[in-house]
Amino acid sequence: MLRRDVVVIGGGRCNFTNLNTSPDNFISANPHFCKSALARYTPADFISLVEKHGIAYHEKKLGQLFCDDGSGRIIEMLLKECSEAGVEIQCRSVVSNVTKNAYFEVETENGAFASQSLVVASGGLSIPPLGATDFGYRLAQQFGLGILETRPALVPFTLSHQALSDLTTLSGISIAASVSCQGAEFRENILITHRGLSGPAILQISTYWLPGHSVIINLLPEHNALELLREEQNREIELANFLSQFLPRRFAQAWCARYFASQPLKRYTPSQLADIANKLNSWEVVPAGTEGYRKAEVTAGGVATHELSSQTMQTKKVPGLYFIGEVVDVTGQLGGYNFQWAWASGYVAGQSV
Ligand SMILES: Cc1cc2nc3c(=O)[nH]c(=O)nc-3n(C[C@H](O)[C@H](O)[C@H](O)COP(=O)(O)OP(=O)(O)OC[C@H]3O[C@@H](n4cnc5c(N)ncnc54)[C@H](O)[C@@H]3O)c2cc1C
Repeated sequence: MLRRDVVVIGGGRCNFTNLNTSPDNFISANPHFCKSALARYTPADFISLVEKHGIAYHEKKLGQLFCDDGSGRIIEMLLKECSEAGVEIQCRSVVSNVTKNAYFEVETENGAFASQSLVVASGGLSIPPLGATDFGYRLAQQFGLGILETRPALVPFTLSHQALSDLTTLSGISIAASVSCQGAEFRENILITHRGLSGPAILQISTYWLPGHSVIINLLPEHNALELLREEQNREIELANFLSQFLPRRFAQAWCARYFASQPLKRYTPSQLADIANKLNSWEVVPAGTEGYRKAEVTAGGVATHELSSQTMQTKKVPGLYFIGEVVDVTGQLGGYNFQWAWASGYVAGQSV
């Protein structure tokens, strides 16, 4: 477990946990399921492991902990811990089939193995070129376990051709906004891309979004736009110039060109000002879709939690069979929560096998 993604994050510094981890940071059909594992293996437990190995780290923002020197240090740490525990690791060995008789029999490219317990940490479907497969889900189904439909999460949105044509020249512009959907709300940056919208606030909300739904973007999260506009309603200043005090100039110009022909503020009627304010504080965008598993940081859905013991991750129907990490229907928000879930669910399974 974790080999693929820690290496991927090698370009960065590996957001290995989050100081503020709580069950509220996870999405699952059963929001209570993750509580036990998260309580038994906390960020402090992982941090003490990191410190034991002398790995320097820092908090970047919002409780997100990163290695100072790159993710390779976390891999070294995990390999050392495994070596001390006598773990044998076989890389480049695809598991093709699993059967259960007296023992689990696992067929791989490097031969067959038999064991009393089997812990499945096959991850999600994100970024297939890096080794993601649906094997864990197929295995669960083979053993008669339910699966919650999977979908890409922590993923950029794509926009329709029409919507994009208004934004196409704005690619690369970042705006501090607040984005909401289905009762969830995140206040961070959004980023306009050449295919749609990305940035931390968009990635976060994508986990809650379902096709056809709209997302609401508050472009002025620190202001009541109507009050701002009313204070200035007798001025000659043009709307786009006025908004450029709060938003990137090019965005303000394109946004006005799309929705409200920019003119001096004093020329708008009170009802037009109310419309403008409403769109500034509640800009409704209907994504055409997402960038899919190609760009998703995680996979939402997965092995149904009611099939598993929350204390151990063991399946209720098949003694000795465990599912941990991302393959389970527990999805963390952006910010180190998915690793913390992988550590915590792996720990509780490890205590049980
Ligand atoms: C680009 C990217 C960046 C990320 N950054 C962060 C971050 O900074 N912080 C964070 O908390 N989370 C991050 N995540 C999410 C995090 O990496 C995962 O949630 C976490 O690694 C899940 O751990 P896991 O052990 O369940 O699965 P994984 O780490 O995905 O490991 C599953 C492994 O099983 C292998 N596998 C699959 N099928 C088979 C098979 N049939 N036979 C043999 N092997 C198989 C896969 O190749 C993979 O190596 C990131 C994800 C991506 C894609």
